[in-house]
Amino acid sequence: MNSNSLQDRISLIKKKISTSALRAGRKPQDITLIYVTKTVGLETIKEAVAAGAGIFGENRVQEAQKKIAACGSLLAGRTLHWHFIGHLQKNKAKYAVQLFDLIHSLDSIECAEELNKHAGKIGKTQEALIEVKLSSEESKHGVLKEDLIALLSATAALKNLSIKGLMTIPPFFDNIEEVRPYFKELRELKDKAVSAGFNITELSMGMSQDFEIAIEEGATMVRVGSAIFGARG
Ligand SMILES: *Cc1c(COP(=O)(O)O)cnc(C)c1O
Repeated sequence: MNSNSLQDRISLIKKKISTSALRAGRKPQDITLIYVTKTVGLETIKEAVAAGAGIFGENRVQEAQKKIAACGSLLAGRTLHWHFIGHLQKNKAKYAVQLFDLIHSLDSIECAEELNKHAGKIGKTQEALIEVKLSSEESKHGVLKEDLIALLSATAALKNLSIKGLMTIPPFFDNIEEVRPYFKELRELKDKAVSAGFNITELSMGMSQDFEIAIEEGATMVRVGSAIFGARG
């Protein structure tokens, strides 16, 4: 991984995104690459920005808060976008609405109401995705698929919250092909929600090891960390 530069790794990921999109009969520009920078330092983020990165994913509110402030002064003049991809605690909603353009991990009405309340206070419409839990792993967050339509209905009444789509984190498999049914299922859930009258378009699915499969199955956002920035310590 050290033999090539960050720039090379970014180019390679972008090329793979294009190839997978074309293979699936999709437009490469319909897929957004989220650069997952959790644990990544400022100098590396700066290098990524120079290489064309503009949308970053963070999973801890406090870590993101420090980085966003530092990047604001370090990279003055560049508009960077930050997405929250971690598990959101209700008591962090106030900060989350100040920091993030999109929250990928909404999974309860309580959290939705908190986000709506704090977004209202700063005159913002907070965009979010609903995280769906498609496996029975204890460690995973997300709403159960049976409860998705109810959560979509409940959030529709919240004026300062706008739900744009769905997100999932499938289990880890050594054989990556085994992940495909999870991505397919998330797409089908989105299609069902659209049929039920909900105007959602985004599918945030796929990480370093499986983003190509996710794109073949309809991902509109892929969240890539280690394949760009190297293994996290
Ligand atoms: C860390 C993380 C990623 C990126 O994972 P990689 O395997 O390093 O690409 C994507 N999504 C979420 C929710 C994460 O926490």
